[in-house]
Amino acid sequence: MDYVKRFQVKPGDKVNLKEIDASFRDRHKSHEHALAEIEVYNNKLRKLQYLLYAENKHSLLICLQGRDAAGKDGTINHVLATLNPQGCTVNGFKVPSTEEAAHDFLWRYHKAAPARGQVAIFNRSHYEDVLVVRVHDLVPKEVWSKRYDQINDFEKILHGNGTHILKFYLHIDADEQLKRFKKRIDDPRRQWKISESDYTERHYWDDYTRAFESAMEKCSTKQAPWFIIPANYKWFRNLAISRIIVETLDSLHMKMPDPTVDIKEIRKKYHEIRKKEGGGRPEKGN
Ligand code: AMP
Ligand code: MG
Repeated sequence: MDYVKRFQVKPGDKVNLKEIDASFRDRHKSHEHALAEIEVYNNKLRKLQYLLYAENKHSLLICLQGRDAAGKDGTINHVLATLNPQGCTVNGFKVPSTEEAAHDFLWRYHKAAPARGQVAIFNRSHYEDVLVVRVHDLVPKEVWSKRYDQINDFEKILHGNGTHILKFYLHIDADEQLKRFKKRIDDPRRQWKISESDYTERHYWDDYTRAFESAMEKCSTKQAPWFIIPANYKWFRNLAISRIIVETLDSLHMKMPDPTVDIKEIRKKYHEIRKKEGGGRPEKGN
């Protein structure tokens, strides 16, 4: 079964995160065992992004969501580092600035949406406005509860303009989060990542679970599906995400664009110049 089908939240489905195994690894016993497959999908991803860029018809928006230490940064480092930076933007969304907060909640996200031919990665996204905002009552319920429809409309607009949207929930369990916090405390190279909020937010584990479940139930649509990615194993998370991106881009049946010039004419000109200038190394086959 392809991974798009396997990990997608089907539109209208109920989501129960507790029932989903965060340690799922498919048929792979270990990272070593999965290396060859990871390489295959990374290579495919690179080629498909080149095609996306060259064809200049579609764009791709990747939203990464998950609890603290779920691996949003790691995903960007590992999977998305395969992409050519010229065709890619990454935006991390923090507490809105004064200017951002003075606009409608979608303003800052819309500005960062990908242009044709581009991939945009959102490290956190417009979903924060129905996640952290809902859990902490940052706006009244009558405001955030309308946002699900508003988000669906927003995503419909982007999709209508050629943007394919993939939303990944990186699913770790409570034990794994604690393990990762411990690693951050013990490793001087990771200590800078620790924030007070990592610990305070953990008290709201169940509230976040409900908020994530609602977001995925209300906003997984055909044009902008949610995927629940088992993420206790970082290498499996990386593999699953690159595979889903590859399958999605493959399904677009993109084509290299026709040249904008007459290649025969240009070739003739090239040979004329070579003849006239007489320079250059001998050509192979001449
Ligand atoms: P990090 O991604 O770890 O750098 O943390 C960013 C912080 O910004 C998290 O605590 C988010 O919950 C918070 N944040 C992101 N978007 C919003 C938003 N729209 N409203 C309030 N807080 C937000
Ligand atoms: Mg953090």
